[in-house]
This record gives sequence, structure tokens and C-alpha cells, in this order.
Amino acid sequence: MQFPAGTAGRVDVCTECFKYVDVPSDFGFRGCVTSSTATPSLKHELKFEASQGLPRPQWDVYLPELYREVPESDLDAALTEAVRYWLTQLGAACGPGYNATESESFHLLSCLDERQAARVVHYCEDTLSRILQILSGIAADEGYGPHVVLAFDSAYLYYRYVARYYPEGKFGGSAGVFLSDDGYKHVAIQFLPHDWHRTLTHELVHSTLSHRPLPMWLDEGLTMLVESHLTGTEPVTINGEIRSRLREYWRTHSLESFWSGESFAFDDDGQELSYALAFIVSYNLSLAAKQNLHAFVCHAHRRDAGRQACEDVIGKSLGAIFSQTLGDGDWTPRGGYGDELQRLRGVTRSS
Ligand SMILES: [Zn+2]
Repeated sequence: MQFPAGTAGRVDVCTECFKYVDVPSDFGFRGCVTSSTATPSLKHELKFEASQGLPRPQWDVYLPELYREVPESDLDAALTEAVRYWLTQLGAACGPGYNATESESFHLLSCLDERQAARVVHYCEDTLSRILQILSGIAADEGYGPHVVLAFDSAYLYYRYVARYYPEGKFGGSAGVFLSDDGYKHVAIQFLPHDWHRTLTHELVHSTLSHRPLPMWLDEGLTMLVESHLTGTEPVTINGEIRSRLREYWRTHSLESFWSGESFAFDDDGQELSYALAFIVSYNLSLAAKQNLHAFVCHAHRRDAGRQACEDVIGKSLGAIFSQTLGDGDWTPRGGYGDELQRLRGVTRSS
């Protein structure tokens, strides 16, 4: 689909589907690899490759060498410089107005004005310390280098950036994501003026849980509980309607995709009903098994979706706990979901 050059970077009506779309910006990173010779103070070169027209740091080459050769006491400073360079390159490719704003532990890339950007990084600092307080003994703020938040002002740029983290296929939409499998953990969000607090809070909780091998449902459920507590919003309205939708959907779809985490990216109702189920069960657990929730979260593993930890710590089968929400049925996870970190949960830093 071609658009007149004058509409680049703006919203226009597509002449094929007649929907409003963000017209791709003329700005973009077109080179294959560039080196960091522009920042001679960097000891080791951080190189980039082009991904969807945006520069993607080659962390897999850069970080092993950095960890090998830079003393631990200098790692924070070296990574701070590498992050500055990355955000300068990415900002230039995103278009005019994109700038980095720094606070004590956050680097934000956005096209917000100075005052707004300062508010956002202040919110991040404050929220991170509140999360660590609420989830004391569960959450952690580990790693070297600053926390990075990329706040894109259009859905087009956001999806263009996160596209490389998704395999081929159709997936449900998102407003933000914690990215943990690219060498340097970070958060990417669509900056929606009235909803950024909630999205950022959600992704920052994920970042503080990313060192734990949590099953996706528990990671999302716990994250939504904290998000709800900190922002005063209800991620899911618990009522009769949602309960019957959950029962109807999960009776006709295998819960295996829920246990493995796959259904959280479905492009049908399965995505919404995965988040809803995760939230409701976690909410119920936080009431009924409050004393044991901490130990359960610390022992749960994604390999079996938390099945063993649930029996050992809470003293009930996971199937029985889910029956309370889904009604009678065989809701027991089969297991064997793998040890690998699940993709697309966004994180923050190199560790
Ligand atoms: Zn989430």
C-alpha cells in the first residue's frame, strides 16, 4: 500500500480497507550494521542490525565481552553509556521529537515534552519502589545498567518495534510488553495519554518478577493484583457474566494452552479469557490462601504450571482450585511445558 509522501508519519485513511492507519514515517534505520565509533568513550563497540527499519543492538555479541573484560564495579557505568547510545540511535530512527530522559534508575525514550517525560520517569521510580515493598521477598530489582522504558506515540511504531519478538502468525493486541529475551531487558509501551500509568505499572511488576520461573498464569495474575492495588483500577470485573463466559470458553477449549502460556497471545476471546481466569484465580488465592501465597509463588515453576508447588504449599490440587471458578471438570495441567523463559513478558535490564 502506497501513501503520498506528504502523509508520512501521520494518520490517514487507507484506500484499501478504509480504516484510519498510521502512515509509516520516512524516518528509519536502513543500514545493516553500524558501529559505535561515534561514542569513543565506549570501551567495547555496540553494534546494531536493522529490524523493521529500527536499529536492534547486537547484545548477544556485546554483553559477553563486556562481562568478561569490564570489572563488576564499572558495569553499571559501561551499560549506562551503551543504553544512551542505543536510545540515541533508536530515537533518531523513530523520528523527530524522540528524546531520552534520565532519572536515577530509568532511561525513558519518548517524544513527550520535557515536563511530561519528567513526570513519567518520576512515576516509574516511585512505582518500582512500591512494587518492591508490596512484593517484598518475591520481587527483585537485579541486574546492571538502567531500567529502560520505550514509550511509542503510535500503534504503528509500537508494533513495528515489538514485531521481532513474535514468531510468524496472528496474535492478540497489547498496550505494553516486558521484553526479556533480547539480552537487555526492557519495557515497550504505546503511550496512551489516559492509560499509561496502568500499562507501565503492569510491565514494571513483570520486570521485578522476571528472575522467577513462574508459570505465565501466575505471573499475569499476580501482576494484575499488584496493578489493581497500585492504580485503583479493576483489570477484570468479577461478576456472573465473566464467570459464565469463562466456563463456556474453557469447556470447549483445552486448558493446556492456558497452562503453557500460549493462550495469552491468542487473537480471539481466548486472550481476554486467559487474563480474566488468571486474575480471578489469583484474586481468590490471595483471599483464601493468603498465608501461603508467598511460599506458593516462590516455589511455583512453569514446567508444571505450578501444580507441584500448589499441592506442597497450599495442600490442594491446582485442578481443584480452578474448579472453583470453572466448575467441575479435569483442569489438571499435564506438565512438560519447558524451562525456557516465556517470550513477550517484557523485562528491564541486563543481568
Ligand atoms: Zn502482563
